Amino acid sequence: MDAKSAARDRFKSAQDHLVELSHRIHAHPELGFEEEQASSWLCETLADAGFSVQKGICGLPTAFRARAGSGPLHIGICAEYDCLPGIGHACGHNIIATSAVGAALAAAKVADEVGLTVTVIGTPAEEVGNASGKILLLERGAFEGIHAAMMVHPAPFDMLRAKIIAASMFEVHYTGKESHASAFPELGVNAADALTVAQTALGLLRQHIRSTDRIHGIVTNGGAAPNVVPAHTSAKYIIRSETLDQLTELRPRIYRCFEAGALATGSTIELTGGDKPYAEMRHDEVMAALYRRNSEALGRQFPNLGEWETRPTGSTDMGNVSLAMPAIHPMIGINSLPAVNHQPEFAAHCITADADKALADGAVAMAWTCIDLATDQGIRARLMAPR
Ligand SMILES: [Zn+2]
Ligand SMILES: [Zn+2]
Repeated sequence: MDAKSAARDRFKSAQDHLVELSHRIHAHPELGFEEEQASSWLCETLADAGFSVQKGICGLPTAFRARAGSGPLHIGICAEYDCLPGIGHACGHNIIATSAVGAALAAAKVADEVGLTVTVIGTPAEEVGNASGKILLLERGAFEGIHAAMMVHPAPFDMLRAKIIAASMFEVHYTGKESHASAFPELGVNAADALTVAQTALGLLRQHIRSTDRIHGIVTNGGAAPNVVPAHTSAKYIIRSETLDQLTELRPRIYRCFEAGALATGSTIELTGGDKPYAEMRHDEVMAALYRRNSEALGRQFPNLGEWETRPTGSTDMGNVSLAMPAIHPMIGINSLPAVNHQPEFAAHCITADADKALADGAVAMAWTCIDLATDQGIRARLMAPR
């Protein structure tokens, strides 16, 4: 039997368990850095399959590494398993986690035969927007020794190289002074007005930024009562640009809008976060082409998406990984339209038959791509060359 058939058979022997695990993670959504159950269940599955597992690596209790094989080419497969506040697994990270484990089990079956080491890197807290799992794991050495990395991410349809842009999340806190809003308003300093001024300034700024920039946020504290001048208000914002360089240009212009709110009202401002942004994704063209071929061999299709191909989508800390080593992040379709990521309706789609098929196809296509990377001497040499 050839290596790819052996890998697929190994996946099939684990498929029922992985589908059950995907549904279990979906039924027990956990926020970023709190994914105690999901990370434990994934580690158990990998340990039972003979992987050498380290949980709680790099000071992150819900991060892990699980390694199998001893070949010289070392591929990392990233697993995400955090949910979104309020809407559960509306980004389908249950599928990401279980397809990563499935790919690793399948590739491990033939790892020594093809000269491969495969490591699942359990990367918490993809959705947090700043200082997320992969960013901290990269900083703290969890990716050391890994030559290339991959993962698949659920989406309404298959898309090989989504345009993934840089992003930075930060919080703003204003402090003013309470007072009776009617009897003694002149003694108050209105921290809610500071947010209003900032949002107005941001609205005006939108005329003068790149059409590909994004600014979006929520007020997390707008005051306590209408008859008390708000003394404490806060908001969370995410800003995005096509690249980290463009984001660096945009950031001070955004911050000045928030400072304008403090200046106009006499509040004080504190800005936190925003220090460890998500980078744009640099897709490795060779790896992407191999993934596509393997995926199509499984019967999947990459539709012509017109303007969707080039319009900026979301952001992911896999972008930071892709600047450090060759990497891919194909979107895998779960046939959810009109539901799209970050909607409750999308969450409901992440445990359908189409979602379970995406888990299986993503796992096998990634395992086969690992085998291709290991068995093409030219590609292997490029990936293993010192960076
Ligand atoms: Zn996601
Ligand atoms: Zn998401």
